[in-house]
Amino acid sequence: MSTVFEKIINREIPAYIVYEDELVIAFLDISQVTPGHTLVVPIAPYENIYEMPDDLLAHAVKITKKISIACKKAFDADGIYVLSNNGEAAGQTVFHFHFHVLPRYINDDVSLKFVNHMNDVTKDEFKKRALMIKEALL
Ligand code: 5GP
Repeated sequence: MSTVFEKIINREIPAYIVYEDELVIAFLDISQVTPGHTLVVPIAPYENIYEMPDDLLAHAVKITKKISIACKKAFDADGIYVLSNNGEAAGQTVFHFHFHVLPRYINDDVSLKFVNHMNDVTKDEFKKRALMIKEALL
């Protein structure tokens, strides 16, 4: 099923496009969580990061860097979040892979709360978790 991003790519619905090449497109996120909030989206409709071919992902990262620098300059941002939600549990709502470039400002109203559980995790548990990832990489 085609997503709203495919409709933007195919010019079936309007968007404020800021960049486009043969592989990726970047346009303003409709929600404008902060001024300049931009999405970098591959033209090909891969659903998530797991499916993205490495070379396309590398290109998308390169363009995400360019957009980040442009947003920082254009909006005099104090910082930039670069993030990608993969899967419903991670907050993904449009199932066509994308990076959010989210300019951050001192005292803006963005909240993404990371709770520190360091004190609840034993050294053995850290070792076990690291091993689980290393084994999954094989
Ligand atoms: P996700 O939640 O999947 O990480 O991000 C999807 C993003 O797409 C949301 O931030 C949402 O505001 C944005 N979005 C949804 N529909 C539209 C649309 O029609 N136009 C634009 N420009 N952005 C959209």
